[in-house]
Amino acid sequence: MSETLFSKIINREIPADIVYEDEQCLAFRDVNPQAPVHILVIPKKSIAMLTDAMETDEALLGHLLTTASKVAKQEGFGDAFRLVVNNGADSGQTVFHLHVHILAGRSFSWPPG
Ligand code: 5GP
Repeated sequence: MSETLFSKIINREIPADIVYEDEQCLAFRDVNPQAPVHILVIPKKSIAMLTDAMETDEALLGHLLTTASKVAKQEGFGDAFRLVVNNGADSGQTVFHLHVHILAGRSFSWPPG
């Protein structure tokens, strides 16, 4: 997979406001927040998008979700947050390194836009 902005954040080649890190993933604040809390959780492994994940990545994908929940709680919104995964350009994906958006701190409408 080609290098993306997010692999540069993992490698500390560009700065980010990192709020959580472990061996498998990193969480940092979105540079263009769409809610009072807008954090991205990314795997350290290079996976361009969800549909590129393999069966062998299932534990990692689960880890991204439990980490998102943990980070939302850490931010004070453990009971009310929205997770979004854009998969592919037509869904709105702009950075092709898998990421889970955590959005919290305001109310959200449904259906999403
Ligand atoms: P996508 O549209 O691919 O689902 O989400 C990509 C997200 O990455 C966007 O919300 C965008 O604001 C965020 N983003 C893009 N470049 C950077 C960056 O250099 N730093 C940070 N922290 N976020 C970024």
